[in-house]
Amino acid sequence: MNEDFVIWWCRRDMRLDDNAALFHALTSGKKVLPLFIFDKNILDELPAEDARVNFIHDRLGQLHGQLLEMGSSFLVYYGLPEEVWKQIMAEQGPFAVYTNHDYEPYARKRDAELKEYLNSKGVDFHTYKDQVIFEKEEVLTDGGTPYSVFTPYSRKWKAGLNPDNLRPFDSESHFGQFLKTAPKSMPSLGEMGFKGSSIPIPSIHPDEDIIKDYHEMRNFPAIKGTTRIGIHLRFGTISIRKLAISAWKLNETYLNELIWREFYMQILWNFPHVAKGPFREKYAAVPWRDEEEEFEKWCKGQTGYPIVDAGMRELNETGFMHNRSRMIVASFLSKHLLINWQWGEKYFATKLLDFELASNNGGWQWAAGSGTDAAPYFRIFNPESQMKKFDKELKYVRKWVPEFGTPAYPRPIVEHKAARERCLNAYKLALGKA
Ligand SMILES: Cc1cc2nc3c(=O)[nH]c(=O)nc-3n(C[C@H](O)[C@H](O)[C@H](O)COP(=O)(O)OP(=O)(O)OC[C@H]3O[C@@H](n4cnc5c(N)ncnc54)[C@H](O)[C@@H]3O)c2cc1C
Repeated sequence: MNEDFVIWWCRRDMRLDDNAALFHALTSGKKVLPLFIFDKNILDELPAEDARVNFIHDRLGQLHGQLLEMGSSFLVYYGLPEEVWKQIMAEQGPFAVYTNHDYEPYARKRDAELKEYLNSKGVDFHTYKDQVIFEKEEVLTDGGTPYSVFTPYSRKWKAGLNPDNLRPFDSESHFGQFLKTAPKSMPSLGEMGFKGSSIPIPSIHPDEDIIKDYHEMRNFPAIKGTTRIGIHLRFGTISIRKLAISAWKLNETYLNELIWREFYMQILWNFPHVAKGPFREKYAAVPWRDEEEEFEKWCKGQTGYPIVDAGMRELNETGFMHNRSRMIVASFLSKHLLINWQWGEKYFATKLLDFELASNNGGWQWAAGSGTDAAPYFRIFNPESQMKKFDKELKYVRKWVPEFGTPAYPRPIVEHKAARERCLNAYKLALGKA
């Protein structure tokens, strides 16, 4: 234990401004050494070209540059967190460690074990809420239980909102507390087995005009009517407090979407079994068709349903898919093709720039009908009418499926009516409603 400095462990809070754990570290009375670990447990699962790893690496480089200008430096490791921490403690352990909460099952386990280890060495492990306005059990029903339905949750969430929850943490005023140290080096992408990605990253600055018109424009995939801020919320390059203030002032529909994000995070926290299976256990009995060829076609955007194919191709090419298309393709996979929603969930996890376990899982369970606030099993999106309603002029379809309307475009993989019947029968049987 070293009395001279504390560590701020930066994870999915990749910014120096308005950062809860960093603020508390900087005001602890000790000098602060920032730490980042490229976690092999996570990176080993990813392909060599992954735009998100590229993004994290670039962002870390920027933060590192800012620290160098202040005479400080990021301490960056590539390894397994438990081993890295042992190494840090063996070299010159800090007086205390400051970090922000992470609600995913893997992170919860990692942090619980680390806390025990650090405490056994006499080092305090301080953790803070940072990535949400309300977390864990902060928004509960009057009976003291977690919500599983969005609307009453959102009402309670809004009732609890006040300027205090939105006040930024003024970490910027305390930058003088960063530990002065010789510049440390960062591993390159290549040293970690990755190569650069050419997929562009959406802007970190949410467009206020988009937020203002959000309620009117958000449903049309051909229009840039949503903020595409997901990746920045995922990695904390933007502060949720700053974004929520804009939302609060500018557009309630947009604020509701930020509340959906927190709704799913508290679901994951309070019902961690959702990460492994359906929220409603009965849905585990749905007889999924393990049709790998059909799944492949869905992944590639070759189903013969143009709105589905457009969504999947947008995802494959850009790492983004419009929310409307996400709902359509997820419904199509789990209902028309009757393929386990978890296959789709996994595919999205590898492709989405804004991949977030809680929201992805929530979105998939919603579409499959097994989730908290789910579409009932008998509500099956008709891809044809969805296209007519939300892409009337076929702008989105023509952009992503240029061969649509030519003989090169595949015939529908399933016939809508028959697929609908098959799905209804399978769900009814599983849910004991036949
Ligand atoms: C099957 C499926 C999978 C999804 N997977 C993810 C995922 O991995 N990560 C993710 O962030 N969102 C996911 N969503 C929710 C939503 O589609 C995206 O958040 C949104 O499309 C991202 O675009 P945007 O940044 O332009 O969002 P905007 O529409 O501009 O909204 C702003 C922010 O609000 C949050 N948000 C908006 N809609 C939702 C929602 N329905 N649920 C939770 N948060 C929301 C996001 O953080 C988003 O970035 C999924 C939805 C479905 C149906």
